[in-house]
Amino acid sequence: MVHNFSAGPCILPQSVFKEASEALINFDDLGLSIIEISHRSANFVAVMEEARSLVKELLHVPDEYDVLFLQGGASLGFLTVAYNMIRENKKAAYINTGAWAKKAAKEFGQLGETDIIASSEDRNYSYIPKSIETGDDHDFLHFTSNNTIAGTQFKQFPNVSAPMVCDMSSDIFSRKVNVSDFDVIYAGAQKNMGPAGTAVYIFKKDILGQSSVKIPTMLDLNTHAQKDSMFNTPPVFAVYVSMLNLRWLKQNGGIEWIESVNQQKADLLYNEIDNNPLFTGTTDVEDRSNMNATFLLTEEALTDTFNSMWADANISGIKGHRSVGGYRASMYNALPIESVQVLVDVMKELAQKHG
Ligand SMILES: *Cc1c(COP(=O)(O)O)cnc(C)c1O
Repeated sequence: MVHNFSAGPCILPQSVFKEASEALINFDDLGLSIIEISHRSANFVAVMEEARSLVKELLHVPDEYDVLFLQGGASLGFLTVAYNMIRENKKAAYINTGAWAKKAAKEFGQLGETDIIASSEDRNYSYIPKSIETGDDHDFLHFTSNNTIAGTQFKQFPNVSAPMVCDMSSDIFSRKVNVSDFDVIYAGAQKNMGPAGTAVYIFKKDILGQSSVKIPTMLDLNTHAQKDSMFNTPPVFAVYVSMLNLRWLKQNGGIEWIESVNQQKADLLYNEIDNNPLFTGTTDVEDRSNMNATFLLTEEALTDTFNSMWADANISGIKGHRSVGGYRASMYNALPIESVQVLVDVMKELAQKHG
């Protein structure tokens, strides 16, 4: 068994891969692949409807919200939310907590004025800015709930007067969220929900039609809401696999269950990082991500030794992002705690032999 700590595209449950692979050959006993049937067929419409309703059920999405599965990943989401949430002020507040947050802020700049009201760039994004406040002239506040590259996570969301828009790409479905605190939540699928190719949008229906600029048809959430997420051909396979994964989550106990599992995994790894003299975390302790743990070796000379030890233990995907260096262990929902234990055991062994 390979222990897959990839930051994204990420690990999904083996049972999901198995069912998805069967549906590639024979979906719903039709004798046809899921990717060769009409997206307007009753069989696929049922998949889309189940995917949307599982999102609503798992996250307790209130009735006045809609859920869509669109294309373009979270990166197109940066522009989509800008178009849909820009109002008369044409000015929006952004929190810059990392590379993705910064890219999101840049996109709003195409339409209006981006106001970076808080940033952790001064310390290479190793912490989450606190005491966030917005002004009356901000159309909305945008932030990134979990910083996939830096390994930081908002433990407490801002509480501001402006409508809140959140990129939850790398921690959606990992913990409880109060959806009604947000006007828009969006997330690329491939971090914690499914394969690359789709992004989920959860938004208050009353934001539709409120933009102060003309929105290109495909970027208008209203276009897709009117057509139940079927305005054009949806990414059928990505939506299907996401749906299977959400079914898996529900069957196992939903968000309450996975949140506690994710906490146990994070505690196990961070405990080792803190107690092992050969390792150190790269972020402030209180802002550590439960999804992406970033850490460094304290003795750089041991790099090759450690790298071959974890590779021998069948660990994959823990090389750190080039902007942070060291290691990044991503512990998305489908990563079993046993895999974290294998990594911790390798870290312990390194300390015993070379500490
Ligand atoms: C990966 C990631 C993105 C970009 O997602 P794409 O689907 O590749 O566009 C955006 N935001 C966050 C937080 C991410 O982790």
